[in-house]
Amino acid sequence: MADPGATLLARLSSVVGAGNVITAAADVAPYLVDWRGRYRGAALAVVRPASTAEVSSVVSACAHAGVPIVPQGGNTGLCGGGTPHATGNEVVLSLARMNRVRAVDADNATLTAEAGVTLAGVQAAANDAGLAFPLSLASEGSCTIGGNLSTNAGGTAVLRYGNARDLVLGVEVVLADGSVLDLARSLRKDNTGYDLKQLFVGAEGTLGILTAAVLKLYAAPRTRVTALAAVASVGDAVALARHVKQALGDRLVGFELMSDVALGLSRKHHPGTPDPLPGHPWYALVQADDSADDPSLPDRVEAMLAFAIENGFARDATVARSGAQAAALWGARENISEGQRREGPNLKHDISLPVSSIPAFLDDARDRLAAAFPGVRFVVFGHLGDGNLHYNLSAPAGTADEAFIAPANLERAQRIVHDLVVACGGSISAEHGIGQLKRDELERTKAPLELAIMRRIKAALDPAGILNPGKIL
Ligand code: FAD
Ligand code: ZN
Repeated sequence: MADPGATLLARLSSVVGAGNVITAAADVAPYLVDWRGRYRGAALAVVRPASTAEVSSVVSACAHAGVPIVPQGGNTGLCGGGTPHATGNEVVLSLARMNRVRAVDADNATLTAEAGVTLAGVQAAANDAGLAFPLSLASEGSCTIGGNLSTNAGGTAVLRYGNARDLVLGVEVVLADGSVLDLARSLRKDNTGYDLKQLFVGAEGTLGILTAAVLKLYAAPRTRVTALAAVASVGDAVALARHVKQALGDRLVGFELMSDVALGLSRKHHPGTPDPLPGHPWYALVQADDSADDPSLPDRVEAMLAFAIENGFARDATVARSGAQAAALWGARENISEGQRREGPNLKHDISLPVSSIPAFLDDARDRLAAAFPGVRFVVFGHLGDGNLHYNLSAPAGTADEAFIAPANLERAQRIVHDLVVACGGSISAEHGIGQLKRDELERTKAPLELAIMRRIKAALDPAGILNPGKIL
């Protein structure tokens, strides 16, 4: 009798070409480990379709064979959602070859891209049309729009433009039986019943495979001002955020918080990064954009920060006066994750809180974690303007990193952090998703009725459970 695995691989080869069914261990390896190196899996093969029709045939062949599928875009996800399990009975479906921008409609301010276009590629195509796609992540050179929508990515411009969910008008999805659901409409208004496209946003590949999306474009910024402020406490940073929101209104795009420890790791592992305001415990990075030419905006931002210093909720500030200075300020922020990775393994929490509760949360969490893990290093940064903190812990100096991130420690730290988050009315995942990392914590912290509805939706769309099983639920 024919080996069912071999039969499936032959079928997949006939769909995408033998060269796009990868089985050689060395070639498959990069798809089997996540960006952080926390999750490692195995797979029957990596399949790389180039069109929606090919994705449809691949999914239908896998469905017939009862072989689960793990979709993967740029593999920059931080929760193990795109990593197959160790069983080796899954197929990784890479969208990387679906990398065409299908259309840009400048009058409608929309762009239609295939799922495997990188975020940077989408931004560039929008810029070429004199417009902008505002989603902005440090991983934008590698992550894909399909991955961004599947994780409902956030990033540094959420304050002004919202999450990935807010930036999508339509999607094209291949369902679990291989059928193609065409929701790729480019309408800003469409009240014809349930908003099905949003089901697939943030679903981490568990409900369907996104093959294309219609995205909203915005006026390109003609004026951009970046400033760094040093503050004495997170309470002062919250007061500063409120002041800045009032002063800049819609022009405020991003308000990022960074601890001195987080910036220190960024600088340590990226030598040459400037340190314009040394010696403070916390920093806020502010970005303001205007679609009009406004030469007065830098001076107005400077006056706003001078007011904050006079009134005691900022200690010092600097406004970038060139593109290079602005890039250096943003570089220090964006290199924190990479700096932390190079420093060694760590425990990460991507949490969302009402902005007003953040200072008290940080005090409580610090006290409880310092008692549980004496000497633990707090690497705290994130998108304070929208209440999203990257609340990360590095091993105490001089301890073995691997022991620090052992499952028992991860679980203990997650419990402490997430219990406090829930008590503050927050969320255990702000922008990275659930994947494998937070599946048990989701089960523990989400209301049973919400979980039950999620399971019913999963069962309705993927009754055989072949789409990214064991992720989220
Ligand atoms: P992958 O990692 O390949 O996949 C992510 C999930 O989506 C998986 O569950 C996968 O199965 C699923 N998936 C991928 N493509 C599809 C598809 N076409 N159809 C269905 N399911 C699919 N995230 C933020 O939100 N904000 C940040 O500021 C941010 N900064 C980052 C900085 C760095 C340095 C790094 C490494 C990551 C950062 N991330 C951030 C996380 C990551 O970049 C995002 O989650 C991104 O959206 C993932 O896109 P991807 O293409 O790499 O997806
Ligand atoms: Zn982030």
